[in-house]
Amino acid sequence: MAFHPTTLLEPHTPPALTTEPHVIVRGERLTVWDREGRSYLDATSGMLCTNLGYSQPRLVRAAERQMARLPFFASFAHRTADVALALADDLARLAPLPMGRTFFANSGAEANDSAFKLAWYYHRCLGRYGRSTVISQERGYHGTTVAAGSATGLDFVHRGFGLPLPSFVTVACPDPHGPLREGLSEDRFVDRLVGRLERLIEHEGPDTVAAFIAEPILGAGGLIIPPPGYYPRVQEVLARHDILFVVDEVVTGFGRTGSMFATTEFGLAPDLITLAKGLSSAYAPISAVMVGQRVMDTIADRSPDVGAFGHGFTYSGHPVAAAVAREALAIVVEEDVPGHVRETAPTLMTALADAFGGEACVRDVRGYGFLAAVTFVTGAGGLPEGEWGARVMSEAVEHGLLVRAVGDTVIVAPPLVSTGEEIRTMVGLLEKAYRAALAGIR
Ligand code: PLP
Repeated sequence: MAFHPTTLLEPHTPPALTTEPHVIVRGERLTVWDREGRSYLDATSGMLCTNLGYSQPRLVRAAERQMARLPFFASFAHRTADVALALADDLARLAPLPMGRTFFANSGAEANDSAFKLAWYYHRCLGRYGRSTVISQERGYHGTTVAAGSATGLDFVHRGFGLPLPSFVTVACPDPHGPLREGLSEDRFVDRLVGRLERLIEHEGPDTVAAFIAEPILGAGGLIIPPPGYYPRVQEVLARHDILFVVDEVVTGFGRTGSMFATTEFGLAPDLITLAKGLSSAYAPISAVMVGQRVMDTIADRSPDVGAFGHGFTYSGHPVAAAVAREALAIVVEEDVPGHVRETAPTLMTALADAFGGEACVRDVRGYGFLAAVTFVTGAGGLPEGEWGARVMSEAVEHGLLVRAVGDTVIVAPPLVSTGEEIRTMVGLLEKAYRAALAGIR
C-alpha cells in the first residue's frame, strides 16, 4: 500500500478520520465519486488545479492523439518535441508581459526550483558569485522539494527534515488580518512590511540576495490577499538591489483570479513566472518557468563563460503533457474562462457573505475570483486553536462537499467552469456543514 503526502504516517488519518484513506475512483465535471459510491462536489478543484472540471473530453482526446503520435521524446541537449515548442509559443502569446522563453518541468515545486537555479545562474553570468539567498514570505507555499520546500514558509514542510536550507530566509507575511497589522491603516501596514523587507536585505547584505519569490495571493497559507499597495512597493525595493522577482502563479495562473494571470491583475513586473496546475488543468503533470527578456538575454549571452544550464528533467516538455496543456489553454481562451470567473465571482462572495457574514463564530469572509475563504474566530465555541477548519471540512465531507482547511480557515476554490447555480449549491452545503459542526460542539 502507498503512503500519501502531508499525512501522519501512523495512524494514516484525515480527511476521512478513519485509518483508511478516502479513495476516489471517478470524476465528472465538478463531481467525484469514492469507492463506496458516494459523490462529492469538489469545491477544491482537486488541489486548486482541475480548473476545467473532471472528464473534459477535449483533454482526453488530446492525450490520446499525442500518445499515438509521439508519446515521449526527451528535451535534453538541444533536442525537443514539436508540441513542447508549440506550447512555449502559446504561452508566449498569453504571457502577461513580454517574456523571453519558457523552461518546462513537471510540478510546481520543480518549476520553483528551476526558477531559483535560473536566478543563481543569472547572477553567476554577471560574475556575482555571492548571490545565493532566496527570500520568501512566511506562510507562502512553493512546494515541498528541498529547495521549494525551503522557500515555503510553513513549519509543517520544514519540521521533519531540518529545513530550510541555509540560503533561504523569510520575510513577514502580508496578512491584513495578521498580528503585524495591529490597527494600522493599510498604508502604514504596507510601510511596515516593506520596512521589514528592506531591513532583511540589509541584514543579509544586498550583494548576497539572488531572488524574492511570492504568490500574488497566498493560497495554501490560508488565502491571504495582500493589500494592493504591497507588491508595487516590494518591486521597487527589489529593483533597487537587482534582486530577481519570481512570481509563483502556480495557483493563480490561467484564470483563477478573473484575469489570465494575477501578474496582470496586480500590475506586477516579474523576472520569472512559475506555472503548473491550471496549465494542463491537472490532466497531466507539467509546469513551466517563463523567463523575462532581460534575464534570458543575460544568460544566453554569458552562458559560454559559465557553462551549460545543467538542469532539467527527463520529462521536461513531455509531449503528452504538452499536448494536453495546449488543449487546456485553447479551452481557457475559447471559453473565456477568466471572463466567466470575473462575472461569477460576485455570486461566490455574496453566497458566502449571506451564509457566514453575520455569524459570531466567523472572523471574516474574503475572496478574489474563484479563491474564497471563511476564517472562524480562533477558540470560538471552545475549540482548540486551528481546529475550526478541520471540523467544518470533515462535516462537509459528510454533506458531500470537498473543501480545504488551513487552521481556522476553510478555503473554497471551485473549478473555473462552475456556474453561479453550482456555486450556490456548494456554499449551501458548506453552510449545512458549518451548522452541523456548531451543533457538534454545543
Ligand atoms: N506553488 C503554489 C502557489 C502552490 O500552491 C503549490 C501547490 O499547491 C506549489 C507551488 C507546488 O506545486 P506542486 O505540488 O505541483 O509541486
